Amino acid sequence: MARILLLIVLVWILFQIVKRMAANTDSKPSAKPDEKFVQCANCGCHIPESESQIKNNKIVCNSPECLQK
Ligand SMILES: [Zn+2]
Repeated sequence: MARILLLIVLVWILFQIVKRMAANTDSKPSAKPDEKFVQCANCGCHIPESESQIKNNKIVCNSPECLQK
């Protein structure tokens, strides 16, 4: 009987660990934390490198005003 109780406790602990790990992966932000930020040459705002564009050898943001210049 003691063995069965021990097994139940072990399964319960495992379940709690798995539940906690699942909760941790869900709460992670979707944005890349180590993404490099660059400064727009026209308006000076900081934007993620993936959202920046290069125009006339200058880094600009996605705003239409900066892209037209
Ligand atoms: Zn800009």
